Amino acid sequence: MTSGPRPATTTDVVTTALELVGAASVSPDAGPAAKILAAVLESHGFAVSVDDWGNTLGHIDFGPGPTVLFDAHIDTVEVGDRSRWTHDPAGELVGDRIVGRGIVDTKGPLAAAITAAHRMVGQPGLGGRLVISGSVDEELAEGPSLGRILDDVNPDVVVIGEPSANTLRIGQRGRAEVEVEIIGASSHSAFPESGINAVEVMAEVIIALRDLPLRTDPHVGTGLLTLVSIRSEPYPSQSTVPSRCVAVFDRRTVVGESDTTILDDIGAVVESVAHEYGAGSVTRLARARWQTWRGRNVDVPIYAPAWYEEPQEWPVTDVMAALRRNDFDATIGTWKFCTHGSESAGRRSIPTVGFGPGDPGQAHTPDESMSLAELRAGVEGYRAIFSALLVAR
Ligand SMILES: [Zn+2]
Repeated sequence: MTSGPRPATTTDVVTTALELVGAASVSPDAGPAAKILAAVLESHGFAVSVDDWGNTLGHIDFGPGPTVLFDAHIDTVEVGDRSRWTHDPAGELVGDRIVGRGIVDTKGPLAAAITAAHRMVGQPGLGGRLVISGSVDEELAEGPSLGRILDDVNPDVVVIGEPSANTLRIGQRGRAEVEVEIIGASSHSAFPESGINAVEVMAEVIIALRDLPLRTDPHVGTGLLTLVSIRSEPYPSQSTVPSRCVAVFDRRTVVGESDTTILDDIGAVVESVAHEYGAGSVTRLARARWQTWRGRNVDVPIYAPAWYEEPQEWPVTDVMAALRRNDFDATIGTWKFCTHGSESAGRRSIPTVGFGPGDPGQAHTPDESMSLAELRAGVEGYRAIFSALLVAR
């Protein structure tokens, strides 16, 4: 398989998925895939626009009615250790499966949604505007690039295209990255008593934080606090008691928690331990900084709220009924991982549902793959969902 840009000439979902997978888009360098996506959207009858972040949007107008936004991110994680792949990460058809980086997360769902929309043109009874966005840099921070899209599109309802084995998803845990900094005092390590060892104080903080009460939500699961990295200053240290230590925690959040409550809870524990040892402390959100492929500099706190939609209310009711009518699995669940839904539903309270072909367990793995049957069923699923939401008024 070649991985260079190929012309988008057919509207077959398998071809489209392979075209998208074949175009590189390791975040934040999503330019090649964004350009292929624009060509694919045009060949499927969409009016195309690209915003200043590099999000690529396709628009189809079905007449008066609601604005429905479908979003799938086009960026992917790295291929990783190439020797662990037995097939081409740039896309390969292997029996009845497509293998390639991003096929599940989330170029397959994107291809399926575009194909579904294309087939709906001319379908009677539809109204409204369908916007399909291939967003950038979701793998760097869930939410910010979709926020840029929402500012422009202002949708009535959002469909998140992440893998769900073609079942409906109506929520997820949130995620925050919390940085804890301990400010001690350096001294010669022959006289440790004259300093305040920031690493030793941090050790006490880490132990104390194990007892932090975390809420469990009946729908999205348990809150978590996991230490993911630690660094000290000076490093390396030559006979010097370290004066600073920073630990980073991944905090999985549930519905009802906010960045303020999360930081307050952790900060209270940190402060009391630090105080005991005469050290100073700061508890803050970590930040993600990058430049998008269009040259936009992004600098955002890493916090994506949890969300959950009521199963007895619109849009879940209408979407579920449409999926049932089309013989889809009637299971309604939540995602274990974080998605762009944190921005639409979690931060902005825009009604949001999630659906996508592919096994979420395939994401970020070598030989990431999706069966052609799943991909094709995904097209039917999106058609049912979009038809249920694009109601003429
Ligand atoms: Zn991912």
